[in-house]
Amino acid sequence: MQRRPLLAGNWKMYTTLTEAKALAEAIVAASSDVSDRDVMIAPPYTALAQVSDVLRGSSVLLASQNICWEEKGAFTGEISPVMLKELSGSLAIIGHSERRHVFGESNVLINRRVHGALRFGIIPVFCVGETLDQREDGKTMAVLEEQVNEGLRDVVLAGPEQLVLAYEPVWAIGTGKTATVDQAQEAHVFLRKTLAGLYEKNIASQMRILYGGSVNPDNVDALMAQDDIDGVLVGGA
Ligand code: PEP
Repeated sequence: MQRRPLLAGNWKMYTTLTEAKALAEAIVAASSDVSDRDVMIAPPYTALAQVSDVLRGSSVLLASQNICWEEKGAFTGEISPVMLKELSGSLAIIGHSERRHVFGESNVLINRRVHGALRFGIIPVFCVGETLDQREDGKTMAVLEEQVNEGLRDVVLAGPEQLVLAYEPVWAIGTGKTATVDQAQEAHVFLRKTLAGLYEKNIASQMRILYGGSVNPDNVDALMAQDDIDGVLVGGA
C-alpha cells in the first residue's frame, strides 16, 4: 500500500488573526484540486477558531501546535484535545524542537501529550530530531531512538494512520540549512526500523514519516522523492 503524502504547515507564533484568515483562504484555494495528498495547517491558538471556519467544506486539515493530555483543568497556557475537536481540529504537533529546546519539554511530558491526543482521537504529529552537537558527536541515531522509544512509551496504536512521525533535525529548523536527501532518507529508514521494534509490521511500514527543516520550494521535490519521506513539515517557507 502506498503511503499518502502529507504536506504540513507549522505557522509557529506568526500571523495576526487577519493574516491567518487570509493565509488559510489562500491555502484552501491553492489546494482545492489536490486529491493525491493531505494538507494540514497549524495556526497559532488565537486563530484556530477563525481558521476552522475558513477550512469548513475544504479538505485542508486543522492542527494545533501542541496539546494537553487532560480534557480541562488548571493547566494555564495549554489547549485541550476537546477544545481542538470542537473546532474540527484533527491533528496536533507534539514534541516540536522549539518545545523541547526553548521550553524544556521532556520526553516524559511529550509522551503524556501523545497519550492524551490519542485518547481523544487526535492524531499526534510527533517530532524528533538531533541537535548539531549530537550529530557531530555521532549520536544522531541514538538520540532518535531514545526520543521515539520514550515519546511512544506504552502508546498502543490500532493502525498506522493514528500517528504521524516527523524527523526534524534541530540544526535545520529555521536556519536555512536543509539535511541532504541522503541524511534525511538515512534517518527516516532508521526511524522506520525503530518503529518496527515497537509495532507490528503494517504499522511500522505504513506510518507516515515527514521531514522538516528549512524545506522550501526548491528542495521539496527532491526530499519527497525519497522512498521513506512521506511528506514535509514546513515552518518559514
Ligand atoms: C518547523 O517549524 O517545524 C520547521 C521545520 O521550520 P522551518 O521550515 O522554518 O525550518
